[in-house]
This record gives sequence, C-alpha cells and structure tokens, in this order.
Amino acid sequence: MRIEFLNLKKINQHIYSEIQKEINDVLESGWYLLGNKTLEFEKNLKEYLIGTEEGYAYGCNSGTDAIVISLIAGGVTNGDEVITVSHTAIPTISAICSIGAIPVFVDIDENTWVMNPDLLKDAVTAKTKAIVAVHLYGNMVDIFRLKEILKEINREDIIVIEDVAQAHGSSLNNCQAGTIGDFGTYSFYPSKNIGALGDGGAVFCKKKEFGDRIKALRFYGQKSRYNAEVSGGINSRLDEMQAGILNIKLAYLDQYNKNKLNGFNNYKKELSNVPVVFQTMTDKCIPGIHLCVLKLENEEARDCFMLYLKEKEIETLIHYPIPNHKQKAFEKYANGKLDKTEQLANRIVSIPLNNAIEGSEYIQIISIIKGFFNKEN
Ligand SMILES: *Cc1c(COP(=O)(O)O)cnc(C)c1O
Repeated sequence: MRIEFLNLKKINQHIYSEIQKEINDVLESGWYLLGNKTLEFEKNLKEYLIGTEEGYAYGCNSGTDAIVISLIAGGVTNGDEVITVSHTAIPTISAICSIGAIPVFVDIDENTWVMNPDLLKDAVTAKTKAIVAVHLYGNMVDIFRLKEILKEINREDIIVIEDVAQAHGSSLNNCQAGTIGDFGTYSFYPSKNIGALGDGGAVFCKKKEFGDRIKALRFYGQKSRYNAEVSGGINSRLDEMQAGILNIKLAYLDQYNKNKLNGFNNYKKELSNVPVVFQTMTDKCIPGIHLCVLKLENEEARDCFMLYLKEKEIETLIHYPIPNHKQKAFEKYANGKLDKTEQLANRIVSIPLNNAIEGSEYIQIISIIKGFFNKEN
C-alpha cells in the first residue's frame, strides 16, 4: 500500500465535526475578520506559550507576514543587514528581502542543522539590525547562547526574531520556542505542526511597544479604525474561520507533538544499525518535531534511497534541495561558501512522520529502509 508523505484530509479527519461547527459559527455571526475567534486564539496562544496572559500575540495572514511585521516593528528598514541561515524554507529569506533588508548568511552546526550562534561574532557588522534564528524541523537554535554572544560583543541592540514556523511547541530549558527572543513568528500553513485550512500566522512578543506596533502593522498601520499612526502597515489579518480552527488544534498540539516524537524516536531506534544520521537536538531542547530528516553518506546514496522508496511506493521529499544562497532570487547575497549547509542539502531526505500514519505503516517504512541498505551490501 502506498504511503503518502502527508495526507491533510486524514490529519484533520478526527476533528471534522468540530471544524464544521467553527465554520458554521462564523457563517452565522456574519463577522469574518479580527473578531472574537481571533481574540480567543490570541489569548489561547499566549496562555500556551507562557502560561499566563502576559505578553502580546497577534494573528496575521502567514508565517512570512509574521516575519515581515516583526522586522518592521523592530525598526529594520531598507539596507539593514539581517543575519540568518541559508538552510531554511525560502520564505524566511523572502520576508527579509521584501522590506529591502539584506540577508547575511551564516553556516549551520554540523549536528543540530540549525544556526551556530558562535558564528555570529564574525557576521555582525555596524549595519546588523536583526537576527532571524530558524528552529528547523522542530529543533531549536540555542537562543540563550545567541543572546549571551550579543551581550559579549556589546550588541544587545540587535533584534532577535525566532522563526517558529516549524517548531510549534518546541522548548529549550522549559521556555517555549518564540518566547526567548524579541519576537516569535508562527506559520499555520496547513502542513505545520498545527495548520489552518488555508493560510495563517501569528507573532508573539513580550514588549508592549513592539506589541502595539505589531497590532497596528497587520491592519494598514492603524491604531484604531481610520487612524493610521504606524508607518509600514500592511493588510495581514487572520480570518475568523482559521482562528476558530486553530483554537481547536492548539488544544491538540501537545498530543500531536508527543505522537510525532515517539515516531521519531522509534525510527531512530529501529534504524540505529543502518548508515543514516538523524538530527541531533540542541542540548536541553524538547523538540516539537516537524519533520523526520535523514542524512545519508553522499548525494548519490541519497538519490538512490529516494528512488528505491519511490519504487516501493513510499513518498519522500527534500527539505530543502537548494540552499537559499544558491537560489536565483538571492544569489546576489551569497557571502562565501557555506560548507555545512551545502553538504547537508545534498545528503538529506525527509521520510513520512505525521499523525495520520499508522503503526503498521511505520513498520513497513522501517522494513523497506532496512531492505535498501541490505540490498546494497
Ligand atoms: C512555512 C515556513 C515559513 C512561511 O510560512 P507561510 O505561512 O507559508 O508564509 C517561514 N519559515 C519557515 C522556516 C517555514 O517552514
């Protein structure tokens, strides 16, 4: 039987009736944007992230917008440098470029596959205004270490944005992803740890000054209706139907993450004797696993592996095949070789791991992977 990488219909099946009720509520209310369901979601998200209603969480239209709005709220403008990694989803970089800022790429850590904060010292210049730290596949950048480094070099003025699109529910030292830096940006794209039935996003921050700006920026820069006070405003609202659906899903997030972490650890255990390398989680990080990514010995082995699994009807993907500094749209920002990034992109493959996959399917995937390596020897 064919095993899909991700079947969203199956993912959402267990809450069909709850989703239908939310859609019906909105239809009946006649209120579609920035209403009670959005307010409720923003309150629930804050509660989930820091256990109280402190801080500021605002819904917006996407994870990309969440980054854009955070950059603008943090005072980043045209020509400012923003340090990030090349090994991330394209939107991290699109967001930075969309406001005319310049992405400056640092390499990833060889084992954790996320930003190596120790490389920041050499990357920071007088023009550095922000850092976008990407918590990739569920693993987290060590934001505490990152902040320590900024302190050491006397640059605590640099804004720290955590891109949490792939790490809903991940924590580091018991702090939720997105609550350690100045801003945490969330995407609720359908395939994320919690996803909407369309686009959606959110920003979390602790400072009132930033919160007030975020709230206005997503709403044309208006502080109140017909009163534009904040420049750089865009239209980026979370709609009431998506907010209602996200309220349901947020309540399941820990359960989803627990199941996926079990699946991930089981893969790791079962595949401990075959030549694949798993992502090493950052010390003290409990990951809200987004993807199960394997690193093979070289590009040829990876390509053969993918072909073999395809023949056996198991769908795999690469996240991501071309690093951003090698993308046509961004190659002008390439600033030297990123050895670890380039090596990883050539060797990785993502295998199915999600809450719609059954135990028997995991057994089948594991046995086929073992079969691939046995065949080779
Ligand atoms: C998905 C994703 C985004 C963008 O989210 P959208 O909601 O699709 O705009 C940004 N960064 C990372 C790392 C992502 O995975």
